[in-house]
Amino acid sequence: MKVTLTTQKREKPDFAKLGFGRYFTDHMLVMEYNDGAWQEPEIIPYNDFRLSPATTVLHYGQGIFDGLKAYKNAEGKITLFRPYDNFNRINNSARRLCMPPIDVNKMVECLKELIRIDADWIPTAPGTSLYIRPTMIGADPQLGVHPAHHYLFYIILSPVGSYYAGGLKPTKIMVEEQYVRAPIGGTGEAKCMGNYAASLLAGELANKKGYDQVLWLDGKEHKYVEEVGSMNMFFVMDGVVRTPALVGSILPGITRDSVIKVCKKAGIPVEECRISEDEVLEALERGTLSEAFGSGTAAVISPVGVLHAKGRDHIINNNEMGKITSFLYDKITGIQYGRLPDEFGWIVKVN
Ligand SMILES: *Cc1c(COP(=O)(O)O)cnc(C)c1O
Repeated sequence: MKVTLTTQKREKPDFAKLGFGRYFTDHMLVMEYNDGAWQEPEIIPYNDFRLSPATTVLHYGQGIFDGLKAYKNAEGKITLFRPYDNFNRINNSARRLCMPPIDVNKMVECLKELIRIDADWIPTAPGTSLYIRPTMIGADPQLGVHPAHHYLFYIILSPVGSYYAGGLKPTKIMVEEQYVRAPIGGTGEAKCMGNYAASLLAGELANKKGYDQVLWLDGKEHKYVEEVGSMNMFFVMDGVVRTPALVGSILPGITRDSVIKVCKKAGIPVEECRISEDEVLEALERGTLSEAFGSGTAAVISPVGVLHAKGRDHIINNNEMGKITSFLYDKITGIQYGRLPDEFGWIVKVN
């Protein structure tokens, strides 16, 4: 891999006010796909791209991304959480959008090198991390509708603040009755750009009504719960942790998988199944739905305090974070930050 270091390091932001995805490190990784093969990856100074206005991704959305995090502890040790799973998922997303697969092991090694070069950008305050955004775009400078012949794969790094800077406050969500995120057979399983564009309107309308996220129902019958915003969804019903099964329209979250594995190991009953909206409402009425939360890399675990469905607000667990939810949050973040032993083999050392 060719490495070109910047001659002008950029001024660092105030690490106490990072927010999410607003600042980027000094370098990035880029790799081009030409003549039917990925070319040698390169690390170069972080910079803007020059793209033809006709570029494939800008018209037809042939683009995918992923998201993972690196952590640095007080001794300067840097680790990644389950990076091979993310890079394998990139290849699954790529297949769905007719894009070429990358070499997973090689790319994880390249990512480690990039992180070591920009190690001084990784914040160390509690809850902070380095967010990593691998992206792949179709890059032909022409308008024909077909899979591109040229692709660009790149990785950018962004120091991010604690998702819970204002405390771990449960969110308010509402069931989305009109719009759907993804039908079975669509691109819901792929982390592709268009899924996000398609979800914005519902999210905006929910925000206007005072809710943080929408709870998506399935695209066919509008009956089964699928995801919450851009997180996977969990309910604790009758003491069983339940999450919608990966039926084809749901993004296979790595945090979701971690939650399932942690539950299994801790002896907490966990189930992947179809969960109907009616079943959720019945359990709320009967008082057997004790906790609800979303899972994803950015927030890790996000408790739900209010669920709006069929015309009214339902309060979950007194609008407080529940026992199982906090156990899972502490366990997964504990492993990520190295406070707890890596009993699942999820941690990959960078330095
Ligand atoms: C990325 C994503 C998730 C969460 O996946 P993680 O691997 O846990 O970060 C869930 N749902 C959607 C739609 C996503 O795009």
